[in-house]
Amino acid sequence: MHEPLLTIRDLKKSFGRTEVLKSIDLDVGRGEVVAVIGPSGSGKTTLLRCINFLETYDGGSVRIDGAEVGYTEGRKRRGERALARMRAETGMVFQSFNLFPHLTAAQNVMLGLTKVRRKTKAEAREIAGHWLGRVGLGHKAEALPSELSGGQQQRVGIARAVAMEPKILLLDEITSALDPELVGEVLEVVRGLAAEGMTMLMVTHEIAFARDASSRIVFMADGTIAAEGPPVELIASAEANPRLFSFLARF
Ligand code: ADP
Repeated sequence: MHEPLLTIRDLKKSFGRTEVLKSIDLDVGRGEVVAVIGPSGSGKTTLLRCINFLETYDGGSVRIDGAEVGYTEGRKRRGERALARMRAETGMVFQSFNLFPHLTAAQNVMLGLTKVRRKTKAEAREIAGHWLGRVGLGHKAEALPSELSGGQQQRVGIARAVAMEPKILLLDEITSALDPELVGEVLEVVRGLAAEGMTMLMVTHEIAFARDASSRIVFMADGTIAAEGPPVELIASAEANPRLFSFLARF
């Protein structure tokens, strides 16, 4: 058995006196798609941010492909470039798109490729063209974010993340800011990437999508993993788990 791509052990994180992550253990295998669900404030986003080096953690370990992230307070001082390179291993797509408004779709995708991956402009342009085509936006390469719909902007966000060839893609409620009619086109892109074997950890409120597209669902509550399992089994187990039951009852 290979080591899982992502291994989290006894991960702890507090903000002041609030314990946000209480001893999280989680593995994600290569090619696995894991959905994280749970009430607001349960620590889902903080978990992703610890994996992506956006947040330091207080204890425990996070390993990606065998390498310890070790982004704890005492070891925070990594060079900006080294940090950017490590972040590129864990591509993150955000709820609010986070595109640079003054750059075109292609330029948004190219930026990390030239600055972090050290590609030439021509190479970066070609890679950007490829990935924008893959998310159905080949014709929008020269458009500014303000000229794109929310769904299109989010597809640029996904293209930007995968163009860096991350080992794992972290998706943080990427459809929450979208009008309902634009959700489908974004989930379709995610589904395509999953089918191609991209390893993903996604926080989502789309329970139906989590059920259909993931191999495992992790239910977080109060900074812990309160339940996890294959979608059908996890949902079936809700009868015996009051917190999970009341959470799912909202959908
Ligand atoms: P979720 O993604 O499940 O909604 P979060 O990880 O965003 O949960 O937040 C978990 C808890 O941590 C919340 O109580 C939130 O208020 C708190 N929190 C998150 N980020 C910070 C921060 N930078 N400073 C202080 N508290 C924070």
